[in-house]
Amino acid sequence: MEPLVTVPIIDALFMPAERSVAPRRLLNAIRESCFARGVEIRTGVHVDAISPNTIHFAHTTMQAASIIIASGVWSGEFEGLKPRIPISPRKGQILSLAMPAGAFRRMIRWGHSYFVPRSTGELIVGATNEDVGFESAVTPAGLGRLLTDALAISSDVGSYPILETWTGLRPATPDELPILGSTALPGVYYATGHYRNGVLLAPITASIVTDLVEGRDPSIDIRPYSPSRYS
Ligand SMILES: Cc1cc2nc3c(=O)[nH]c(=O)nc-3n(C[C@H](O)[C@H](O)[C@H](O)COP(=O)(O)OP(=O)(O)OC[C@H]3O[C@@H](n4cnc5c(N)ncnc54)[C@H](O)[C@@H]3O)c2cc1C
Repeated sequence: MEPLVTVPIIDALFMPAERSVAPRRLLNAIRESCFARGVEIRTGVHVDAISPNTIHFAHTTMQAASIIIASGVWSGEFEGLKPRIPISPRKGQILSLAMPAGAFRRMIRWGHSYFVPRSTGELIVGATNEDVGFESAVTPAGLGRLLTDALAISSDVGSYPILETWTGLRPATPDELPILGSTALPGVYYATGHYRNGVLLAPITASIVTDLVEGRDPSIDIRPYSPSRYS
């Protein structure tokens, strides 16, 4: 199946339906789709505070019928917004290698690491999961662990050029479940805390938030994700 895997295998689970997306390409596609629908996206703007129907930023304000707090590890930082939510960062270091065409074709998980081959020829090797606050440097220890695991999965990757290394901060909650639902301010909602699954859960989150904003009951019971469960 994957002839370049060299790690000794006793048992393996084959998941034929397993798929992957490239988050940056997904984001570009969403951005294009938004532009095509006339959505205005403002970037480089730091929101300072939220009050009923009002977003405060850069000494100015914007009125909005509905406001969604989806600011990742910073979602708990808005003064006065209740209930308070406990979001903490979990740093992930990750890297990509340039693989020969078709070297790996399927996603491979092994221990705490994984390979995700892309059609572009990139082989993604992920990822660390570190409780180090907002520190987000790429470190020798982090890269060392990823490369050690990568070489254990396949000694072939030892000659692949390293294309890129990067880090991100996953928004974690104490029970590792997302936070979805209304705040105490009318028209202001949380959609955050997706920890390791924010890309995977983006479509269902968007669907739930749309239902909330439009006054419908979401298609699933969202009580387990209530913002007030930590109060
Ligand atoms: C190494 C790594 C691997 C991962 N792998 C996967 C995976 O395989 N599958 C998966 O589903 N998920 C994965 N994740 C997790 C996923 O990336 C997160 O769950 C997801 O990014 C969370 O999305 P978010 O929009 O809530 O937060 P973010 O992606 O952090 O976005 C929050 C945005 O809000 C902005 N912001 C913050 N504060 C303010 C403010 N005051 N004003 C204005 N803007 C603000 C930030 O600049 C940022 O752009 C991975 C994460 C890492 C780090």
